[in-house]
Amino acid sequence: MLYVAAHPDDENTRLITYLANEKKVNTAYFSFTRGDGGQNLIGPEIMEELGVIRTQELLEARKIDNGKQFFSRAVDFGYSKHPEETFKIWDKDKVLGDLVWVIRKFRPDIIITRFNTAPGTTHGHHTASAILAEEAFDIAGDATKYRDQLIYVQPWQPKSLYWNTYWWRRSEHQKDTANLISYDIGKYNSLLGLSYSEIAALSRSSHRSQGFGATGSRGIQKEYLQYTKGQEAEKDALEIIDLSWNKIEGGKEIDIDIDHILSTFDPANPVGILNDMFKLRHKVGNIEDDFWKQAKLDEIDEIIYAVTGLFLEVSAEDYTASHGDEVELEIEAINRSSADIVLKKVTFKTLGVGMTYAVNLDNNRIQKLKSKIIIPKSASYSQPYWLKNDHGIGMFEVNDQRLIGKGENDPAISVDFLLNINGEEIVFSKPLIYKRNDPVLGEVYRPFVIAPPVYANISGSVVIFANHASQDIFVDIKAGKNDLKGTVKLNLPNTWKMEPAVHEFELSQKGEVATVVFKVTPPNLQETAIANAVVKIDEKEFSYSYTEISYDHFPAQLLFNSSDVKFVKLDLEKGNEQIGYILGAGDNIPENLRQIGYEVDIINEMVFTQKNLDQYDVIILGIRALNTVERLKFDMDNLLDFVHRGGNLIIQYNTSHRLVTEDFAPYPLKLSRDRITVEEAEVKILIKGHQLMNYPNQITSKDFDDWVQERGLYFPSNWSDEYEPILSSHDPGEEPLTGGLLVAKHGKGYFIYTGYSWFRELPAGVPGAYRIFVNMISMSDNARQSK
Ligand SMILES: [Zn+2]
Repeated sequence: MLYVAAHPDDENTRLITYLANEKKVNTAYFSFTRGDGGQNLIGPEIMEELGVIRTQELLEARKIDNGKQFFSRAVDFGYSKHPEETFKIWDKDKVLGDLVWVIRKFRPDIIITRFNTAPGTTHGHHTASAILAEEAFDIAGDATKYRDQLIYVQPWQPKSLYWNTYWWRRSEHQKDTANLISYDIGKYNSLLGLSYSEIAALSRSSHRSQGFGATGSRGIQKEYLQYTKGQEAEKDALEIIDLSWNKIEGGKEIDIDIDHILSTFDPANPVGILNDMFKLRHKVGNIEDDFWKQAKLDEIDEIIYAVTGLFLEVSAEDYTASHGDEVELEIEAINRSSADIVLKKVTFKTLGVGMTYAVNLDNNRIQKLKSKIIIPKSASYSQPYWLKNDHGIGMFEVNDQRLIGKGENDPAISVDFLLNINGEEIVFSKPLIYKRNDPVLGEVYRPFVIAPPVYANISGSVVIFANHASQDIFVDIKAGKNDLKGTVKLNLPNTWKMEPAVHEFELSQKGEVATVVFKVTPPNLQETAIANAVVKIDEKEFSYSYTEISYDHFPAQLLFNSSDVKFVKLDLEKGNEQIGYILGAGDNIPENLRQIGYEVDIINEMVFTQKNLDQYDVIILGIRALNTVERLKFDMDNLLDFVHRGGNLIIQYNTSHRLVTEDFAPYPLKLSRDRITVEEAEVKILIKGHQLMNYPNQITSKDFDDWVQERGLYFPSNWSDEYEPILSSHDPGEEPLTGGLLVAKHGKGYFIYTGYSWFRELPAGVPGAYRIFVNMISMSDNARQSK
């Protein structure tokens, strides 16, 4: 069964758990994206780095619910309202090909979609995922489609396609289950000691970066499938599929052997089935069907490994190594059964080297062997395969067909153990790993990776030059191996000046960091440039940065991105207002405002007395403060009084449901789900002469250039006459939305409500967004600004 949807978290872990563990069918989730476009609730990573986190979270979820995990090359570029918009940004032909490829490789009999193809009811990516699933269902079995794939795979026609219906949003579907297939996913598994719904909750809770911790539920619970395409089953989607060995030539005899093994299996002496398992292995090795032969041999080998209590592992002295490095290894091998086992050979497949042994693995006698490898100069760096090449907003660039669909890279180095067990030769493959003891967490594993010899990280992800003054730019050079000596320079267009042109450095130990400083002077005019740090060692140039993503709930990930950082020279006038900031769900705006010279205090813990509030000119609510900051239920009056006395209050976007208070504005104002998802959508200035569009920066249409991801979200839809709408914009084919920036005079001060996506644009270094944000801050009658 292949479950198809758009994002990490779309998948129904209850149904996946049930099918994989109760029905015992090979079950997989195909997510078109890695969730790069979402928000991160557990740390600062966004975009590609967030996609790496969500990928790992999905892989961890599948370890719990026993499913497999696949992806396409599509980028999660943010919210889209309509599948047509989604297909304009994704390369539809390529993403469809990726799903066809996975269908041909994984060979599902049943495809289940999370969403249906009716546009407009949910995220455009969701609807697109259902449209693509239906199209892929129609063509995966057609040898004239995606012919390039047929070098590696055969065409494959799944039997049926169903929609896993839901009623959790609008009720356009009556909850009429008469013609639907249903499964009781709340069923209790007495061998596992858990119900499938309880296991599903554990799996779901892997999605920590989305804040999707789930509480286990017990008792009968139904999931429903609505027939869409192909053969239709009556009660159970699987009833039309032969799940027995009968479908394979010579399978009947194998079925009898398996029944015999099951009936003689003694959990207290699992190795008792070993010789029968080897007999079975020979029979399965002789079947014609290559697909099932390989799949079942893998499962048999896994059982043999388990019943002999084997433990085979190779760990490296460090988790990174570079070209030419010699790496010390420890090989650990133990047999915990009465079987006769001899370790004969350990081979490093990717390196083409191996060691021959004749080590008896006696029952419960540990064998620890030392070894060494040298990392060849031809080995490629362990950057996640979808991030190796630059990519556009819609698609990752992956050129090797065989990598497409994979959750993550294959191990940098994989190790084959050749054993002789009771006279039979068998190979077990293990990844080379690194492990250490953490005083808090205990044994911590991480992948061994092949890394560049040196890294250069420019401080900050976007550097803002708010005026003509030069800034000190710090570059950290980190050694990926011992005894490095070289130079580092900063590549920038020649409109930018820097001092000195080049630094020399020397690092004796791997892991050591040297920091150098470049004094950079920006050009006079507004300009955006990409700065790139280039390290030169022995005439070889390296331009990689070092990013570690480390959390408790998945193995640590290392990224070797290019060392690029965006430098932005703004054409900006500003005052020196004092700003109090109330953080909501979390955003970087306070830091962005400090970068352009404001003093910003975070005042979430402050007592909101008149004296305390009046030390500020402006108070800003961070994104979703009205959804997340409980105290605002009681404290909005104090903030509105602050406005009345002459202060300026700016409220950024909040979602329309679950507000801590409805009384957050001086005059009636109602939020909606209105959003503008196309970041290039034209923005009209409704009141050209308004102070907000003129002081201190004169705003023009140019200030809406180069925005990222979207224009804005959750705009107010109704407001009273006291508010002046300043801007108007809309997605293609929709009505103009004018609620994105509203200003009202209240007493002596100003109240501003704005759903435009400042929290995305400022961190991305969008010049116009800074200029408008500064004007919002400067909105005042007493013009305290000093230039
Ligand atoms: Zn989704």
